[in-house]
Amino acid sequence: MFEKIVIANRGEIALRIQRACRELGIKTVAVHSEADRNLKHVILADESVCIGPAPSVDSYLNIPALISAAEVTDSEAIHPGYGFLSENADFAERVEQSGFVFIGPRPESIRTMGDKVEAIKAMIKAGVPTVPGSNGALGDDPDENMRIGREIGYPVIVKASGGGGGRGMRVVRSEAALLNAISLTKTEAGAAFGNDEVYMEKYLETPRHVEIQVIADEHGNAVHLGERDCSMQRRHQKVVEEAPAPGITDKVRNFIGSRCAEACRQIGYRGAGTFEFLYENGEFYFIEMNTRLQVEHPVTEFITGVDLVREQLRVAAGLPLSFTQTDIKISGHAIECRINAEDSKTFMPSPGPIETYHAPGGPGVRVDSHIYSGYTVPPYYDSMIGKLITYGNTRDIAIARMDTALNEMVIGGIKTNIDLQKDIISDNAFKAGGTNIHYLEKKLGL
Ligand code: ADP
Repeated sequence: MFEKIVIANRGEIALRIQRACRELGIKTVAVHSEADRNLKHVILADESVCIGPAPSVDSYLNIPALISAAEVTDSEAIHPGYGFLSENADFAERVEQSGFVFIGPRPESIRTMGDKVEAIKAMIKAGVPTVPGSNGALGDDPDENMRIGREIGYPVIVKASGGGGGRGMRVVRSEAALLNAISLTKTEAGAAFGNDEVYMEKYLETPRHVEIQVIADEHGNAVHLGERDCSMQRRHQKVVEEAPAPGITDKVRNFIGSRCAEACRQIGYRGAGTFEFLYENGEFYFIEMNTRLQVEHPVTEFITGVDLVREQLRVAAGLPLSFTQTDIKISGHAIECRINAEDSKTFMPSPGPIETYHAPGGPGVRVDSHIYSGYTVPPYYDSMIGKLITYGNTRDIAIARMDTALNEMVIGGIKTNIDLQKDIISDNAFKAGGTNIHYLEKKLGL
C-alpha cells in the first residue's frame, strides 16, 4: 500500500479520500488554493501545499503545480477526486510519466471513454445495450444522414462526440430540421471541444437516469455494485440519488451489471467507474461512462457495505479487489440529498460565512461535508457543501430518516437548498418512486 498520497481536490470529497487514507495508514498531502487554507481536510492533513490563487485554472487545474506538490512532498500517488482533472487523460498521463501513480483508470481508458463515439463502439462490442443510432460519426453526405434519421425514427438527438456537461447536443423533431441541426452542432462542437465529430441517436422522451457502479483491478477482475437512480435532476445536474433504483429486479440488475463488468474486462479497465444509462419502458440504453469516483458513491456504499475509496486505493496500488461478484449482496435502500449553498427557489449561489452548523445524526444517517461553524464558503467553486445520506431496510424507512435528518440539519448564515430537498422528499411522486429525468423541472415550473 502507498505511504503517502496527494489529494488533488477540495471540499467534501477531499475529506472523504483523507478519511479512507487514515484507515489504511496512508499519509495525506492536501493541495489547496489561496482561498482554501481553512478547508477541514487541509487543517487535518499530514502536510499541505498551496498550489496557487483562488481561480481553479490557477490552482486545482494547474497540472505542473500539482505534480510539483507530489515531488516536493515525496508522495507516491495522486487521487483526483471528481470534477477538476479527474477525467483529463493528459493529466493522468503526465502524472504517470512523472513517476507517480494516478489513482484512476489508465490514460487510454479515460481517452476512449471521453470520446462518446469510441465509447459506444466499445459498449456494442461488449454487448452493453446502447441507444439506437448511427453508432459512429456522421459523414458529410446529406442523403446518407437523412437515411440514418429515417431509420432511427424521429425525434432524434444530434450529439457531439467530444461533448460533456450537457452541452453539444440538439433534439430534432422532424426530417426538415435535420441537416441544419447537424451543421449547427458540428460548428458549435468544433469551437467548444476542438472536435467537430457528431453522431445521431434516438431521442428518448421520458427516460429515467439509472447508472451502474463498477470497479476493476489490474488482475482481470471486474465487479459491478448494482445501480443508482439519479433521475431527480435540474439542468442535467443531479439533486437526489438513490440505490437501488425503484423497480429494478435482481435479474435485470445482474443482466445489465454483468455486461458492464464484462465491458471493463474487455477494455482492460482499472479502478472505479460508472456506466450511465437512460432507462425507459424496461430497457437500458448506454449514454456514457464516467471514469472516476462519483458524488453519489455513498448510496452504493450503504447498500453493498463496500468502501469504494478504500478499494480504489487498493487497486491503484496493484492489489487485487478484496471481493468477488458473489460476495456482493445488495441490501436495504439508501438516499442521498446534495446540500448546496444556494437559494432554494432562485438557485442563486450563496457563498459566505457559516455562523451555525448542526449536523443531523441517528441510525442510518451519514453526513459527508467539510463545513463547520465559522467556515466561510468561498465564491469560486461549485456550490455543493455537503451530502446527506440515509439508509434503511426499506425505501420508506430511508425516506423517513431523510425527512427527519433534513429537519434536524441547521446551516445558519448562508442560504441552502435544504427546503427544496424537504419538498422533494415529501413529494408523492418521489415517494411512489420511478419519476423520470424531467420530473423535477416540471414540478419547479421550469
Ligand atoms: P454529457 O456528457 O454532456 O453529460 P450525456 O450523453 O450524458 O452528455 O447526456 C446528458 C443528458 O442529455 C442525459 O442525462 C439526458 O438527460 C440527455 N440525453 C442524452 N442523450 C439522450 C437521448 N438519446 N435521449 C434523451 N435524452 C438524452
